[in-house]
Amino acid sequence: MDSVSRSLRMIPNVNECLHSFIESGDLDDVPLSRLKYCTRIYLEKTRQEILRGDHISSSDRTSIIDGLKAFVRRYHRPRLERVVNGTGVIVHTNLGRSLLPSSSTDALLLAGQNYTNLEFDLETGKRGSRYAHVEDLLCELTGAEAALVVNNNAAAVLLALETLAKNKEVVVSRGQLIEIGGSFRIPDIMKRSGALLVETGTTNRTRIEDYRGAVTNETALLLRVHCSNYRIIGFTSEVSGPELVQLGKSLAVPVMEDLGSGCFIDLSRFGLAKEPTVQETVASGMGIVTFSGDKLLGGPQAGLILGKRIYIEQIKKNPLNRAVRIDKFTLAALESILRLYLDETLAVREIPTLAMIASPEQSVRERAKACQQRLAAKMKDLCSVDVVQVDSRVGGGAMPEQNIPSWAVALRPAVMTIHQLEKSLRRSSVPVIGRVENDLFLLDMRTVRDDELALIVEGLLGTLVVAAGGEQKTYPGEK
Ligand SMILES: *Cc1c(COP(=O)(O)O)cnc(C)c1O
Repeated sequence: MDSVSRSLRMIPNVNECLHSFIESGDLDDVPLSRLKYCTRIYLEKTRQEILRGDHISSSDRTSIIDGLKAFVRRYHRPRLERVVNGTGVIVHTNLGRSLLPSSSTDALLLAGQNYTNLEFDLETGKRGSRYAHVEDLLCELTGAEAALVVNNNAAAVLLALETLAKNKEVVVSRGQLIEIGGSFRIPDIMKRSGALLVETGTTNRTRIEDYRGAVTNETALLLRVHCSNYRIIGFTSEVSGPELVQLGKSLAVPVMEDLGSGCFIDLSRFGLAKEPTVQETVASGMGIVTFSGDKLLGGPQAGLILGKRIYIEQIKKNPLNRAVRIDKFTLAALESILRLYLDETLAVREIPTLAMIASPEQSVRERAKACQQRLAAKMKDLCSVDVVQVDSRVGGGAMPEQNIPSWAVALRPAVMTIHQLEKSLRRSSVPVIGRVENDLFLLDMRTVRDDELALIVEGLLGTLVVAAGGEQKTYPGEK
C-alpha cells in the first residue's frame, strides 16, 4: 500500500469525530449541526491535502482529530472581532471608521432592549416621524432649514440626484469626478440616479465661466464634490462653494455640495488645514449639503442631507428614501452624538474621533513610552522596542496629505521577520494591527487607548514566545 492510501485510511469518519468530541467534552458549547458541518469541511480538506501530497505523512487519527478540534474552535469564534488599531489612521474604513462615545453606546443599548417612540408621537398618540428626533437638532446646530438622514453618504448623494435631477443635466467640474474606495464613482452614481453628467472645465483648472457656459435649459443642478482622497497640486484653480452659489442664484439653478467628511468643528486649531465646516457651507446658501455620519462627525454610519426646505421636502417624499432609511440604532447613536455638539468642548473631549485628532503630541508620546516600558521588561532579547516620531492620518478619505505629528512604538523582532510579526499579531486572540515601515513594525499610539496597552503586550508575548520555542498559543476558550 502506498503512503497516500495509508494516509487516506487514517481519516476518521464523521461519527468517530463526534464521539471523540462528546468524550472529551471540550466542544460542548458548539451546536451539533455546526460540529457536523465543520467536521465535513475539515475531513474533506484533509483528504484533498493528502491527495495533493502536501499532508505530513506521519499524521495519525489522533492528530487529525486534534487539528479538527482547533479548527472548530477557530470556526466558532464570532466573526466580527475587536482589534487594536495601531495604524494611526483615525477614521479607518476597514477597521470600522469612528468609535462611539459612551453616551452613544448607552443609547444603543436603550434602543435595543426597550420599545421606543421611534415613529410614535407621544403628544398626539399618533404616528410620528423617525427623522423628527434628529432634524431639529441638525437644524439648530447647522442653521439649515431642513434635514434628512439616510443610510450612508453614497445613498444621500444618489437620493438627492434622483430626486432633483433625474433625466436632467448636472454640471460637475472635471477636477471633481472622483472615485472613493472603488465602488463609489461620481459618474456611476450619476448614471444610476438617471441624471445626465455634464463635465466642465479641465482636470486641474475649472473657472466660474466654465460652469456658466455649461448651463442649459435642461440643467437641474450644479454639483460640487469634495476631493476627499486626493489633491490636485500645481497649476490649479477651483470655484469655491460661495462663488458657485452666487452663480446658481443668478441662473436660478440649485447648487449641491457633497462634503464627504463634513465637520462641525474647525479643525485648523489642532494644526490641520482649514476646511469649510458644515455650518459655513450651509450659511453660504448651498441648496443641498451631504456628508457622512461616521467620518469626521464621529458618529454611526449615516448620510446626512441638509439644506433648503423646498429641496429636502422633495427628497423626503421620494419612494427611494424608504429603501435607504436608517434604523433605530443609527438614530439613537446619531442623536446622542449631535447632543454632544451642543457644547463644542464636550464634543472634542467625548467624541473619540475628535479626541484622537485633538490629542496633544506630548500625551501620545507618553503613551508610547508607557508601552515601551511595559514591553522592554518582558521582551528582553526577543525584540527591540523603541519610541519613534511618526505621522498619523485622519483617514476615511478626509483631508488627504494631512499628517498629524505622532509617536509610535517601533518593534524589530530578533526571532522572526517583520512580516511574520505583522501576520502573527494580526492573528492573536485580540488582533493588533500596525504598519510596516523601513523594516520596523510601527504601532502609532494616537489611535490606541491606554487600556489597550495590555492587549499589545499580551499579543507580542504570545507571538514572540511561541516563535522562540516557548509554550503553545491557545485560542480563547481552548484549554
Ligand atoms: C466618503 C465619501 C462618500 C461616501 O460616503 P459613505 O458614507 O462612505 O457612503 C461620498 N462622497 C465623498 C466626497 C466622500 O468623501
